[in-house]
Amino acid sequence: MAAKRVLITGAAGFLGSHLCDRFIAEGCHVMGMDNLITGDLKNIEHLFSNERFEFYHHDVSKFVHVPGNLDYILHFASPASPIDYLKIPIQTLKVSSLGTHNLLGLAKAKQARILVASTSEVYGDPLVHPQTEDYWGHVNPIGPRGVYDEAKRFMEAMTMAYHTYHGVETRIVRIFNTYGPRMRLNDGRVLPAFIGQALRGEDLTVFGDGSQTRSFCYVDDLVEGIYRLLLSDYSSPVNVGNPQEITIKEFGEEIIKLTGTAQKMVFHPLPADDPKQRRPDITLAKKILNWEPKIDRAEGLKRTYAYFKTLSPDELHKKEHREFVKK
Ligand code: UDP
Repeated sequence: MAAKRVLITGAAGFLGSHLCDRFIAEGCHVMGMDNLITGDLKNIEHLFSNERFEFYHHDVSKFVHVPGNLDYILHFASPASPIDYLKIPIQTLKVSSLGTHNLLGLAKAKQARILVASTSEVYGDPLVHPQTEDYWGHVNPIGPRGVYDEAKRFMEAMTMAYHTYHGVETRIVRIFNTYGPRMRLNDGRVLPAFIGQALRGEDLTVFGDGSQTRSFCYVDDLVEGIYRLLLSDYSSPVNVGNPQEITIKEFGEEIIKLTGTAQKMVFHPLPADDPKQRRPDITLAKKILNWEPKIDRAEGLKRTYAYFKTLSPDELHKKEHREFVKK
């Protein structure tokens, strides 16, 4: 049987690059696409010598074409941290709206199955806890996270419309906080922020009083859940994440212990619309995908710390080096 041909957008990003690795390992032919605004070729450098891997430097908010047959599309292109949304709000809106439309059109033209990366942010600052897929959410459309949250909600609506109206085979994963090697050091997310600070000997910056909660999933578990969802026949949204919930203050304490540094935590104001609590209800994923996370935080953090320790002092001390273009 011919190798499955897979297009992965956001291929040079954190999740996209891990997905490229997984599909290559499954014997697929992978076409990675990225405009490299927040992605980094370093994450997929090791794949360039592989004859089953191709790279397209392209912005998916413009018309997308790839040659030949296509079996699967995984749409993972998007900035994914509140700091990035503030810096590049228009691109954040475009990639999940216009980009999703282009990729659904491509899926229809090529008769490919498409899986789109949605997010726990569709639940906003949730009033239901833990979050189940049937909760509609509590989102501020004009707050700092609105450009991401509303684009992802539009993504889900557009994807369902292509499914019901055009009969395209679609899958929607709602991804909760995920961590692991290849996270961008300076993207502003809490884990790289804390580990970077610990490695530089700086205090850990806790926003608010640190009582807000998150539930962190190790990247390999997430990739497994996504892979199973793609191969399933389920077209409504599915939460994939780790339900082990922790406060940000406790998380800071874990990082201090892990890194063995003598740093303390310093408290900064809580950003606007920062969700107070977040934990996935994964009953549905357990039932239809026979999936649940296997890697606990102690093990996942150990592996992630080992990665960050390989960064050079230059990389570690470099402030965000990207100049975002306004468009
Ligand atoms: N956070 C923090 N210090 C930081 C960065 C983030 O206390 O240096 C907090 C942030 O306010 C939020 C949580 O950590 O409550 C997770 O933030 P992240 O940006 O990683 O993801 P999200 O808020 O989208 O879940």
